[in-house]
Amino acid sequence: MSEFIIVLILLAGICISVSAIRRTVLTRYLFNKMRMLMPGMSQTEREALEAGDTWWDAELFTGKPDWKKIQQLPASELTDEEQAFIAGPVETLCGMLDDWDITYNRHDLPAEVWDFIKHNQFCGIIIPKSYGGLEFSDYAHSQVVMKIASRSASAAVTVMVPNSLGPAKLLLNYGTQQQKDYYLPRLAKGAEIPAFALTGPQAGSDAGAMPDSGDICYAEFEGKQQLGIRLNWEKRYITLGPVATVLGLAFKLYDPDHLLSDKEQLGITVALIPTHTPGISIGKRHYPLDSAFMNGPNWGENVFIPMDYVIGGVDQLGQGWKMLMQCLATGRAISLPALSVGAAKFICRNSGAYARVRTQFNLPIGAFEGVEEVLARMAGTSYLMDAARQVTCAAIDSGYKPAIISAIVKYQLTEAMRRVVNDGMDIQGGSGICLGPMNYIGRLYQIIPVGITVEGANILTRSMMIFGQGAVRCHPYLQREMKALGEADKSKGLAEFDQLLSQHIRFFLSNLTRGLWFGLSNAYFSQTPGNKASRSYYQQLARLSNSFALTADFALLSIGGKLKRKERISGRLADVLSHLYLCSCVLKHFENQGEQIDDIPLLDWACQYSLHRAQQSLLAVFWLMPMRIPAVLLRTILFPFGKPYAPPKDVLIGKLAQLLLNDSASRDRLTAGVYLNENTEDASGRIEVAFKAVLSAAPVEAKLKAAQKNAELPKGSVNSVLKQAVQVNIINQAEADLINQAERLRLNAIKVDAFSNL
Ligand SMILES: Cc1cc2nc3c(=O)[nH]c(=O)nc-3n(C[C@H](O)[C@H](O)[C@H](O)COP(=O)(O)OP(=O)(O)OC[C@H]3O[C@@H](n4cnc5c(N)ncnc54)[C@H](O)[C@@H]3O)c2cc1C
Repeated sequence: MSEFIIVLILLAGICISVSAIRRTVLTRYLFNKMRMLMPGMSQTEREALEAGDTWWDAELFTGKPDWKKIQQLPASELTDEEQAFIAGPVETLCGMLDDWDITYNRHDLPAEVWDFIKHNQFCGIIIPKSYGGLEFSDYAHSQVVMKIASRSASAAVTVMVPNSLGPAKLLLNYGTQQQKDYYLPRLAKGAEIPAFALTGPQAGSDAGAMPDSGDICYAEFEGKQQLGIRLNWEKRYITLGPVATVLGLAFKLYDPDHLLSDKEQLGITVALIPTHTPGISIGKRHYPLDSAFMNGPNWGENVFIPMDYVIGGVDQLGQGWKMLMQCLATGRAISLPALSVGAAKFICRNSGAYARVRTQFNLPIGAFEGVEEVLARMAGTSYLMDAARQVTCAAIDSGYKPAIISAIVKYQLTEAMRRVVNDGMDIQGGSGICLGPMNYIGRLYQIIPVGITVEGANILTRSMMIFGQGAVRCHPYLQREMKALGEADKSKGLAEFDQLLSQHIRFFLSNLTRGLWFGLSNAYFSQTPGNKASRSYYQQLARLSNSFALTADFALLSIGGKLKRKERISGRLADVLSHLYLCSCVLKHFENQGEQIDDIPLLDWACQYSLHRAQQSLLAVFWLMPMRIPAVLLRTILFPFGKPYAPPKDVLIGKLAQLLLNDSASRDRLTAGVYLNENTEDASGRIEVAFKAVLSAAPVEAKLKAAQKNAELPKGSVNSVLKQAVQVNIINQAEADLINQAERLRLNAIKVDAFSNL
């Protein structure tokens, strides 16, 4: 086998160095073949592919990441003003939210909550101060959504939409000055409620295929004959649609009478249309898994709008898809990841506390190994999620518009939320299942698929977007090679392709050599940053990044354009890239938080988990490759001694579980930013209070148990021996009160609701 590799390397070496041989033998053949096999691409696909930019994803694709690029990224920080907003209006808003009442009694936010949201500029988080908005960083925006999500998902979605892919973002990037001057101050103070209408009954995941149309024509509008657009559409699932005063509407624009130019099909266009415009119908409400946020269909019949309703005016006609994709390139990374992390942190903190408070078999349920395992997974996952959220926000605040990374965090963090919520449900047992005002988790469990489906469901994000777009945008040569292949002047294209091909072969060979060396040495000698706790993870990241780059190249070479439809392969490659990105974020986050020694178990769990997942997905790709012998050969080069990475080690489980079962700085860091309260009548407040009381009483409990062991007190529950323990001076009255208080609060924390009217 080794002879075969040497011959392969020598042959490739000859091809590269002798350009005449390369051009005749290799380039011409590949150029002609690949020109024919180039997959067709629609305009919407091309625009989606070109949206945003790349960052650390491109480094991972090189197989030799430049660590400086992630090391130099400053950690996210809140300004004094942002901190004051979160400690002030956000805290107050959370205190006003009663998710049970919102969901089942009102099916809406109370009027005073709507007013509070509007008057405190919650709809203007991203709008500049000059237009009356808050002009917060993306990190601050994420912190706001995260905190509200830990209190009420319906309220979080209501705040999210105007600040993510709403009209404000489109106006800020593409609006005319007149549109900005009119709408932005109104949106900032909530005088306008915006909705963004893209999805329709026939166009869901494939939104670019919408049948909604607009024809350019002349018509009378506000007493004047004007050039404008006659629209017909049908949309559904539109968040805030039922209460919107202005719709950001996407449609396909046509110029059948050639009033603007010879071109008949102008492409997708976005207009901002007041909902009172004649011909618009705002339908009834959808009921998305019992959630109370406003969501519903709308449609328009022969609605005439003047040209200046188009966002950006005449200059932006037909540019709608590009505008949407550019805005989504960053927007996708903020709202839904913030909502997911808010839910995960909140559940992690409460389930840990509940596992300490709830006793069975005379022990807190958290003391059982089975429960510990679940708690450890929840803590590790939440750490990983928050790392990805914070590092990605920092990248966006530094000016990157990382389209592929935003898809990764949307997909990975919403899926991780699904796992944490499910784990939390298991820990809560029946108290998670019986819905009511005292249940803090059941509503979150119900609402999980909403986050996963919104902005394109995750199956599509995983199997089409991440690797499909990633390969073209992040690969050092692929996009330029595709351009050369598509060159109209064939000889110019051939010359460019030849240059790129020789560089590409060198790149492949150097990755192959490094892959062999990393495989043999386990990347032990690779130069990476990191300290004693983190260096070996950096080294493994270097190794797997190299393996990924090589495997991606091999998949592209062996499957070519058909890879677009091989979603089982591209989905797994997407998982490899995703987990390498998550692991990078974990390392960066650990450093940003000052390399806390207490957090090392969290670092270990999150790194071991993501490296193992990356390895498993990579190995699965080899099984799916069509060229079996080279695929097996490549796998043997990259993993000569079998599988180097195992799932998080058992020794970590106890440490991580303890972190959630005790009041510690590490627990506070892990769950920082969620809404906390100590109201014994509140669904989560009562658990927090009981947790603290049970921990305060723990030393007294230990004294009593020790006395029982020494036969100084009779056997039985600590409560049954309390009186006697005071009488014989094993504990004093104050200590007995601590136990009584803990027991009272513990019983309150495990109560569930019952109803007479069901
Ligand atoms: C509560 C809620 C709020 C929403 N808010 C808005 C809003 O404000 N504005 C707006 O415009 N839209 C909104 N949407 C629409 C949302 O973005 C779309 O629902 C989503 O893009 C998926 O469309 P669909 O539900 O029709 O699913 P479908 O397109 O029918 O897809 C069904 C499944 O097939 C998968 N699938 C489809 N094609 C592929 C493929 N090629 N490869 C792999 N898998 C594929 C999808 O991933 C999904 O899992 C909202 C939706 C919901 C449920």
